[in-house]
Amino acid sequence: MIYEVGVILLLALIIFLLFWRLREAQSHTEKDSMTFQAILSTSTDAIMVLDDADTLLFINDAMNHLLHLHGNEKKLSELSMPEFYIEKEKKYLKDLIKEANIARGKDPLFFAPQIEVKTPRHQRMTVDLYLGDIQVSGSRHRQHIVIIRDLREVIKEIALGERDPLSHLPNRARAYKDFQVLCSQHHIHEEKITLMAISLDNFLITRSLLGHEKTDSTILAVTHTLMQLSLLHHYKTYHLTYATFLLVLPGSFSVDDAFQLAETLQESLAKLYKEHRSAAYLTASVGIASSPESGQPIALFDNVHKALIEAKKHGTGGIHLFQQIQEKHTYDESALQHDLQYAIEREELQIYYQPIVDAATREVVAAEALMRWQHPRHGMIPPNVFIPLMEKTGFIIEAGRYLIREVIQQQKKWKQFGFKEINVSLNVSMREIEIPDYVEYLEVQLEESHIDPHTIKIEITESLAMGSSQKILDALSRIDALGIPLALDDFGTGYTSFSYLIRLPANTLKIDKSFIDNILTNVKHQQVVQAIIEVGHALQMQIVAEGIEDESTAELLQKYGAECLQGYFFSKPVPVFEVQAMLRKKEVLPDEQVDSDDNNKTADTLPLRSL
Ligand code: C2E
Ligand code: CA
Ligand code: CA
Repeated sequence: MIYEVGVILLLALIIFLLFWRLREAQSHTEKDSMTFQAILSTSTDAIMVLDDADTLLFINDAMNHLLHLHGNEKKLSELSMPEFYIEKEKKYLKDLIKEANIARGKDPLFFAPQIEVKTPRHQRMTVDLYLGDIQVSGSRHRQHIVIIRDLREVIKEIALGERDPLSHLPNRARAYKDFQVLCSQHHIHEEKITLMAISLDNFLITRSLLGHEKTDSTILAVTHTLMQLSLLHHYKTYHLTYATFLLVLPGSFSVDDAFQLAETLQESLAKLYKEHRSAAYLTASVGIASSPESGQPIALFDNVHKALIEAKKHGTGGIHLFQQIQEKHTYDESALQHDLQYAIEREELQIYYQPIVDAATREVVAAEALMRWQHPRHGMIPPNVFIPLMEKTGFIIEAGRYLIREVIQQQKKWKQFGFKEINVSLNVSMREIEIPDYVEYLEVQLEESHIDPHTIKIEITESLAMGSSQKILDALSRIDALGIPLALDDFGTGYTSFSYLIRLPANTLKIDKSFIDNILTNVKHQQVVQAIIEVGHALQMQIVAEGIEDESTAELLQKYGAECLQGYFFSKPVPVFEVQAMLRKKEVLPDEQVDSDDNNKTADTLPLRSL
């Protein structure tokens, strides 16, 4: 049996420890002996030590239980002995000890793996049996040690798919289960969690060099080494894949301790090559993940694998700690709220424009103004992070006014410089439109700049329109009365009733991106989009399809009758100078010289030109 080798090594260690301690106990004090006996007593393996004359020197609790003893037996012959069945032949312990002595020769250990035993209470079970002996110094007698390991639990767990059949260690499925329990307890104990993944390097090559059996025995030797070190370091070992192991380190381990342990493990594996003739020269890569350095506890199981991949990237024998990079969208909300107050005066808020094209001609006919926040430390923060924050703090009102001012001023400049007139739409949130003087502010800005109200458009989301109060409806009517068109944004995501839609003064419907995304393959979405377009047209509304990312989608929407298209396929939202470069290129044929000179100039410095 292949797995013998590793288990023999493992048990050789136990027996070595036992004899070593036994010797120590005999040659030293009573106190030592007591300590030694206490250690053996708590072992879950059934252990018995006897001498050549069959006198019982020691029996632990597990053996007492297994043999159903009363505590007054002094000789092996007084015990009601279990029957062992080795290759279907019934054997008693006494015979086995004798046989083992003969068979053993130079080998200090006899091992019978996975044999059947019938206990005095007629229980049948599968066990591993180990017999070892030692010459006690200063005596001509030998002592024999018997270890019986009950395999019932292990066999059950292998059958349940929770243990590796080769190493008998708990496997990946079990590791994940245990890990989840550990995470759930983490909230209570708040102990550090550190995982370490160890993977033998170039194992496919090793396997082809050594062949199947020797490779298995190498894996078992590694198992043994890990088990041996776990006696000292108290980690828990799992066998994830053939050549990968996972250790769950105790809560007291720091990241530095983990690194030290990784080095110790690597050294021990290197030694294995010398000690264990059949093993290949072994190096292992080690990945470490520890909370909080490597993320939330629950992320560690994945992150330790990422760390291992990193460790392997740098050749053999690497050690890598997974370090959490600040996720783009995890911001400290209160710090951002604070920073927002100064965003306008520090000119961190910028307005980007996303072109909207005519579906038939593909010319830019409009643009949507979208706010961007260039944060000094975090870089570009997306609107879905800062707009809700602005709404919460009320800062959206100030930011909205800034948007109105900037867009209207931009339109004024484009008009002055003779660029093609395009409509620019502004997104407005409920919080802004509720403010009594919102419409007045718009009106004043338009008047002061002498801008045609038709050149801007207010986008309100369908949900805003739906949940709106009389106050908001009034504001929308006043906007309409000013001659500013209204668009119903994200259409299809809310539940606008027809009667409501009819009453709204909107003249544009923007079909939400979620319907467009998979429209080429999703028949339901095709039908919904066609229905929306029909309804919109019935109400004399213009249709804009958002989120167009490829030509086929653009063609389909055009076929369905959408007048305008917007999406990354045509352009992402871009800074002002880029959108105006687009306008110029499309609409006029500027001489190349002037155009290239202008490329880096902002709207303020562009020369006047006629379209
Ligand atoms: P929205 O009004 O629906 O804006 C359209 C969003 O879709 C924009 O995201 C745009 O960049 C994105 N988009 C356009 N075409 C495509 C495409 O083909 N593919 C993909 N994946 N995305 C596309 P953005 O700029 O991140 O804005 C997100 C939302 O933030 C906007 O959704 C709007 O609700 C809000 N927002 C942006 N600027 C402002 C503002 O100034 N005021 C207010 N109140 N809300 C704003
Ligand atoms: Ca919008
Ligand atoms: Ca939208």
